[in-house]
Amino acid sequence: MEQTVEQKLEALYELQTIHTKVDKIRQTRGELPMEVADLEDDVAGLETRIQKIKTDLDDLEDAIVNRKNTIKESLALIKKYETQQNNVKNNREFDAISKEMEIQGLEVQVCEKKIKELQFDINNKTEVYEKALTELEERKGDLEVKRTELANITSETEKEELVLIKEAEKAELKIDARLKIAYNRLRSNFKNGLAVVTISRDSCSGCFNQIPPQRQSDIRQRKKIIVCEHCGRILVDETMAEDAQNEAV
Ligand SMILES: [Zn+2]
Repeated sequence: MEQTVEQKLEALYELQTIHTKVDKIRQTRGELPMEVADLEDDVAGLETRIQKIKTDLDDLEDAIVNRKNTIKESLALIKKYETQQNNVKNNREFDAISKEMEIQGLEVQVCEKKIKELQFDINNKTEVYEKALTELEERKGDLEVKRTELANITSETEKEELVLIKEAEKAELKIDARLKIAYNRLRSNFKNGLAVVTISRDSCSGCFNQIPPQRQSDIRQRKKIIVCEHCGRILVDETMAEDAQNEAV
């Protein structure tokens, strides 16, 4: 089935019209989908961080328990040495036990100092932990608000969008592969997604540059696919829009 150029142009314009409607719907969502994604990243990052701090805190608590156990052992030893000292036979034995008691006494001091340091670390880390928790709650709150906002906007327009996407799929069937590639490339080249535009006030309605009269008349002939010399968009004449509308009615 060989298409005339005019049919090709009509098909392209039809597809562009549908896509423009889809773009408008997506615009109503604005930055929301990106904001939601960013907040989701923030929440996940904070949760990982909080988990890490929690593990660190547990390790610090364990270290304190270990030190406390060491102190207990040393104190028990000291007590044992005290009893032994009461039963010594000479000064040399007494001094040797004294030496052992001194060592255990020093061990207790070292552990007590270490426990103070660990407690200091725990206090600092707990502060960081609580700050991160507060931040997490805030982010989760923000995320909830944005998600609801997005869900509301999406549910209002979702049906319409799906219908349009189906229509676009149907319209695409009328466009051959080579043209479709060109169309898609043009669409992605421009922020406003316009690949097919009309002549408007003697100008390209994509880039607003003037179109020479001869070129305009060539476009109206619909015998060739003509692109704008300035922006490269595919040009159709003004009545193409009217024709399409009349057909729709
Ligand atoms: Zn142009």
